[in-house]
Amino acid sequence: TDDILRVNDLSTRFFTEQGQVNAVDELELRIERGEVFGIVGESGSGKSVTARSVIDLIDAPGEIVDGEIWFDDAELAERVREDAPDAVDGSFVDLLSVSSAVRQSLRGTSFSMIFQDPESSFNPSLTVGEQLAEAVEVQRRASANPRSTKAKTDSAEYSFGNLLLSTVLPSQQFVTEESRERAIELLELVGIPDPVERADEYPHEYSGGMLQRAMIAQALAGEPDVLIADEPTTALDVTIQAQILDLLDDLQTETGMTILLITHNLGVVARMCDRVGVMYAGEIVERGTLEDVFDDHVHPYTEGLLGSIPELGGANGQLEPIGGNVPSLLDHEMEDRCHFADRCPMAMEDCLDHPPEFDAAGSEDHTVRCVLATQSYTEREALPPNYF
Ligand code: SF4
Ligand code: MG
Repeated sequence: TDDILRVNDLSTRFFTEQGQVNAVDELELRIERGEVFGIVGESGSGKSVTARSVIDLIDAPGEIVDGEIWFDDAELAERVREDAPDAVDGSFVDLLSVSSAVRQSLRGTSFSMIFQDPESSFNPSLTVGEQLAEAVEVQRRASANPRSTKAKTDSAEYSFGNLLLSTVLPSQQFVTEESRERAIELLELVGIPDPVERADEYPHEYSGGMLQRAMIAQALAGEPDVLIADEPTTALDVTIQAQILDLLDDLQTETGMTILLITHNLGVVARMCDRVGVMYAGEIVERGTLEDVFDDHVHPYTEGLLGSIPELGGANGQLEPIGGNVPSLLDHEMEDRCHFADRCPMAMEDCLDHPPEFDAAGSEDHTVRCVLATQSYTEREALPPNYF
């Protein structure tokens, strides 16, 4: 397989007054180039923290305390090999072993992120066109001179194809006509009608769906290899949601970029993804192709999620709460056993003794963190069909 990203043993903690929160706990993830990989889970399961860890957007009191994030990029490997030989393995670079300046230089060009709330990606006092042109300009300068720390610093201050516009200088200072033209092209690419006119409008003149499109355009300004979409359609009404998903689908096909899609909606996963990881209490508990996870799932939590939705593939594929309590992710309350044990109807003594391994279940790609993973299919089929 042609992996673009391999995440090993990733742990992200938050050091709060209540204690240490293990938001992401020894997480394993593998994403293939050009696929749409979904992470699905309830809110608080750690899916956003996972995405933000990959793109280096964890702020205090959060911290990535352990793990490796291997990213396949031969050019980057060449660039960092001298300064950080241990961070390089063939064409892969461990993003957690390179300087934060290097990681920042990847924002927008290697990784870009879109969020649920497009307002947060735009400065209300500049036109959409100006901001897109800026994003184009910043990416251009950064990739023209990848070694220059100066370019990286400027990039951090400006947009980053979408990442938090806290301080923006008047764009006219450095936006070229060429960047402006590219901005209009980007608006056209994401399906905004009359892009020349719309470029001169301010964010508040855009509808929610249009602003979502503009945010996607901003994220594409640096032609990223990986687009991370964190609940990109949750705030939109059903028809607009469908349009935005279609757009992402089309853009993926056109550009071949890889998409990491974070969602709590199984219908969105079924519609968009090639492979999916089900997240629970800071861990991916089941991972595989759509077929593995929807039809041949093994983990009782996956079963619970699927059992809890009335009908798949529709816009109503919202996760319903499953009986029992989500475990505390506070370190001092976490016990050394399966995180799902308290809610699991299949729990047995083994599950309480030690945390289950992440085991292959049938096919190589289908991996499950549950003692049931290693049981044969016939044994599993003897289980009650609907535990919940
Ligand atoms: Fe349930 Fe045990 Fe599997 Fe955990 S390891 S999900 S408790 S069967
Ligand atoms: Mg979230």
